[in-house]
Parts: sequence; structure tokens; C-alpha cells
Amino acid sequence: MDKIYFDNAATTPVRKEVLDEMLPYFSEHYGNASSIYSIARDSKKAIDVARERVAKALGADVNEIFFTAGGSESDNWAIKGVAEALSQKGNHIITTAIEHHAVLHTCEYLESKGFEITYLPVDEYGKIRMEDLEAAIRPTTILISIMFANNEIGTIQPIAEIGKLAHEKGIYFHTDAVQAVGHVKIDVKEMNIDMLSLSGHKLNGPKGIGALYIRKGVKIKSFIHGGAQERNRRAGTENVPGIVGLGKAIELADAELEETSKKLIYLRDKLIKGITENIPYCRLNGHPVDRLPGNCNISFEFIEGESMLLLLDMKGIFASSGSACTSGSLDPSHVLLAIGLPHEKAHGSLRLTLGHYNTEEEVDYIIKELPPIVKRLREMSPLYEDFVKGTNCCGLGCSCDK
Ligand SMILES: *Cc1c(COP(=O)(O)O)cnc(C)c1O
Repeated sequence: MDKIYFDNAATTPVRKEVLDEMLPYFSEHYGNASSIYSIARDSKKAIDVARERVAKALGADVNEIFFTAGGSESDNWAIKGVAEALSQKGNHIITTAIEHHAVLHTCEYLESKGFEITYLPVDEYGKIRMEDLEAAIRPTTILISIMFANNEIGTIQPIAEIGKLAHEKGIYFHTDAVQAVGHVKIDVKEMNIDMLSLSGHKLNGPKGIGALYIRKGVKIKSFIHGGAQERNRRAGTENVPGIVGLGKAIELADAELEETSKKLIYLRDKLIKGITENIPYCRLNGHPVDRLPGNCNISFEFIEGESMLLLLDMKGIFASSGSACTSGSLDPSHVLLAIGLPHEKAHGSLRLTLGHYNTEEEVDYIIKELPPIVKRLREMSPLYEDFVKGTNCCGLGCSCDK
């Protein structure tokens, strides 16, 4: 086996069909879409086509799609833009404890500006409880921002139910759907979604391009000020190759959605079974059924996720972990802590995320390679040694009940 990429939740390679459509817009069709001569019209036309493709995949109208520089910008725009537009109406926002940092840190920033934020807890599978959401709503609540699917554990939230409740209460509903678009069927109208963030590089499109769906009539301030691009709402000369790539990637993902999700669910379930049945003292994180087709997240007791990643890398396997040592932080993933994992189990987690190019041979390969890696690391672990001797069972989150 050559290189095996199991980190599709972090980013994905650009598909060949996508790159082919993008290339002419770097050189031949370089016109600024705001100009009126013919090469500029080519750019403008390409943007229109991409906007139609994005709108179609979401069940939105073309004039409800605004291109941005990615998922983080879309999240910032939705939350800060509504907070500013509705600050006279109220100052309370509801989100969850397991959002991506693009949402969490935006909310923390707004707290410093006087907004009040409720961070809903989640259950052991990473789902919010509708009764918690309902109880959190206040007369001053202006926005509910809840992610469609989690990037670490893959749990999918009850989005249609949340949208229905938000609309009954007259509150805007934003969802960070960066992990869901192209993987799960979405209809913004049926699901009562007012704003939705998406990103190109999580669906085999290019990096640095994304979009925000804004339902017609939603009151939101602009975030990037300057020229009149994006119908006066998002300034900056359009990233035409990026927009073309995003449009093509989303069109392909949407057309192949059923087929891809069938394939990925088969591979994912084989992977989960192959690991949990062959390695002792491990457990699946996230929801068993309501989870992204490509997400597998497993915690292994007595070892560090980071050391697993290094040994996997030596076997040509690229994956991710809920342990954050490399980022200079001692705290493990906020998502794994929110589902109730103790620190040591959160540190021992491994995230394998499958995508368009993964094969069954690759899944079989990691099922074969992982058990000896875990065994080797445990043999070097003083925690495991104590556990085997029976002297330090408690405090490890094992089930000894003492
Ligand atoms: C990747 C990701 C983002 C950020 O998107 P960028 O395009 O990388 O800025 C936001 N939310 C979620 C859930 C993500 O997975």
C-alpha cells in the first residue's frame, strides 16, 4: 500500500473533473466579473452557473447563495451579521458545546461585546436534546446556531426539528453544514433553515472558497465591506476559479450522493466492526446510526492518540486524533469532553474519515495494521501495566465500579 488518506474531515483532494473545470479560469478567462467586456462576461457567466449548482443542491433559490472565502467566514458572517442586525431586538444566542471553533470563538467574541450565549450540552452520542433547546429560548433570543453534523464524531443533529421549533418561536436558525453538504441530503426550505454555511475543500473542491445560504428576507449585516460584489453583500473581486470549482464539486457530490453514501456507510461499518472487535478496551464515539457516512471515531484506553498517529504515519496511513498535544494545548477535544469522555480516554481517540477515493483494500489494510500498533503502545504504557497488574483500575474510566 502506498499512501492511505483517512482524514477527509480535515480536507479532501480536488477531484480531477473539478480541477479541469477550474483551470481555464486562472489563465484564459481571467476577466474581472464586474467589468463589461467579453472576457469579463465569461467570468460572470461561470459564477452564475456555479451559483445555480449550489442553490440546486440545497433546494435554495440562486439569489439566496453568497460566495465567501470558506466555512469559517460563512460562520462568522452568519452569527456576527445577525447579532448586529438584531441587537435592538435581543442579545441572546443559542449554540452548542460541540461546534467548530469558527462558531464557538465567534460566540465568545460576541460575549465580550455584551451578548449572552447559551452553549447547549449534548448527550453521550453527541446529540442535543430538544427539551434543552426549548428551555433555553428567551424573549431576547435572536439566533440559534447548531451544526448539521459534527466534524469529530460525525453525529447528525435533528436539524428539521430544530428548524421547526426556531420558526414557531420566530427565531433565526443558522447551521454550520460544512461536514454535511455533499454527504447528507439537505433541503433548506423543508428543514426551515435560514442560514447555512458550507465549504469547498470538505467536498472535493478547492480550499479558500465557501458559501453562505441566506434565506430571502433574513436581516443580516454585511461582513466584508468594499465593492458591490455578491449583490452588495460581500465585497471583494470574486475568486472565479474557486467558485467554479465549488460549483462543480457540489454538483458531482449531489448527483452521486446516494451511491457515495451507500459505499461509505459500508466501508465505515466494516472499519468500526473490524477495529472494535479485534482490539480490547476501545469504544466508538458518536451516534451509532445518525452519523456521517464517512466518520469513524474510536477511543482506545491506556494510550495517546498522537503516538498512534505517528506509528500509522510510518505505515503510510494519515489520520487524526482528539488529542491536542501538537497544538500546544493540554486539553483534549472539547467535543469528546462534551460527550462525557474523561481526559485520558479523549486523549486516546483516533478519527478515521473516509471519502470519495477510499477503497475496501485500504480499510482492510488498516484493520490489519492497527491492532499491533495499539498493542505495542500499550506495552510501553505504565497505565496499562498497572491495569494488567490490577493495581490502578480506578480512575481510568474502566468499569470496575469502585
Ligand atoms: C472545516 C470546517 C469549518 C471551516 O471551514 P474552512 O473552509 O476550513 O474555513 C467549519 N465548520 C466545520 C464543521 C468544519 O468541519
